Amino acid sequence: MSGKEGIPGIPVQLPKMGCGEKPSEEIIQLGRFMKHQKNWRNDTKLAVKVFPDTGRGLISRRAIEKDSEIIDLPFDALISLKSISDDGEFMQLLEEVSGEMKWKVQTLLTLYLLWNWHVGDKSPWKDYLRSLPTTLTHPHFCSVDELVAIPVISERIIDSVNQSEVREVQKYFEHTLCPCCGGKFFPDIFPKRKFIEFYLICNSRTVYVPPDTVRMMLRGTRVLGMISNDPNMALAPFLDLFNHSGDTKTMCSLARKGTTYFYTLKTSSSFRRGEQIFINYGPHCNMKLLIEYGFFLPGNYNEFIEVSLKDIEDLVKNLRRSQKNLHIPSNKFRYIRDHNLHEKMFLDADGFSHNLSIVLHFLLIDGNIYENHYHPVVFGQLPDEQSLREYKKHLINLLLERYRDSLVNLQHVERLTESGMIVRDFLKCRIAFMSDCLNKY
Ligand SMILES: [Zn+2]
Repeated sequence: MSGKEGIPGIPVQLPKMGCGEKPSEEIIQLGRFMKHQKNWRNDTKLAVKVFPDTGRGLISRRAIEKDSEIIDLPFDALISLKSISDDGEFMQLLEEVSGEMKWKVQTLLTLYLLWNWHVGDKSPWKDYLRSLPTTLTHPHFCSVDELVAIPVISERIIDSVNQSEVREVQKYFEHTLCPCCGGKFFPDIFPKRKFIEFYLICNSRTVYVPPDTVRMMLRGTRVLGMISNDPNMALAPFLDLFNHSGDTKTMCSLARKGTTYFYTLKTSSSFRRGEQIFINYGPHCNMKLLIEYGFFLPGNYNEFIEVSLKDIEDLVKNLRRSQKNLHIPSNKFRYIRDHNLHEKMFLDADGFSHNLSIVLHFLLIDGNIYENHYHPVVFGQLPDEQSLREYKKHLINLLLERYRDSLVNLQHVERLTESGMIVRDFLKCRIAFMSDCLNKY
């Protein structure tokens, strides 16, 4: 989870281990590192365990009560903008390269991970880096054939890593030689694939930290002048082993206790001794989970299907084939955009969102053609359900068809990658969800 929304993120990939197997040596070492070098007390007696359905996760050796702390990490155990600022060698490199450039905090964290990965045994964070999954499954790593097959998601996949940012970073680091080995950063030391992997790790594993507190800690440092957005994200070693569930609520805080700042998570749920503890990364639909974290949840009750204005335009095109007299003044589309009605258009298990119903009614049923008549139509009473029913079915069918096409195309690709298999199951899951919606309406 990116720092955008407030709750922590997690495993991009389940490790290849059977149920009941012990956590890997790397994870055990990470626990030791957190205790002995980062002064983590582990008051809640957390331990790593491997589960058949989620892979590795965390339990407590004692019962966790409702509304109590599940983890309390010293802030210096997190990889944040402060860690970057405190690392003299990396800061020197960054200053040489940056000039007037201002970086996004996620890009800086990505570069910092790359740097630590490069220096290997000399990295103060080597134990954390070793604990990360060695290969990522994420739709971003689908093969070209797979990506071509699945237009319903490939556009979103490309958006998940900002390509112009990758180029920007390459440009700045291209002619810089590494102070430790004299190698060229791009493409030799920081290969593009590795950059994207670490970028996605930041996407999925960072937690939200209150940016004002971080700014306050960093008052007067050079690094504050080198960022272009809020320092609201940090990587949280060990904490990022919690898996996600929509059944619980998680609250985070960053507060001073004595002389040290602590990053704390509290849970709204109770957990028995030895039971897997889950946290909630946020009420995400499966598309968002897939794109940000590389997994999705069958039966996700936060599931909804986003509808864009382009989808509505396609629906209108389809309808015109059978309704030759369907005429929609073009200023209605402009009116929709001007009044942001195209935002928050979606359908979920309960039906169509308010804006989606309004837009369908406004375009397909309402006969007004003068702009000064639009306001009461759009901001007045909700349209009659019955009159929209057929159009709603049309729209769901249109979306269903796209998902089915993508699924069929994907099934024709020879030998799916692991990422491709996750996407295939995601498509099946969404098709089942929309089919259910169609039956219900
Ligand atoms: Zn080097």
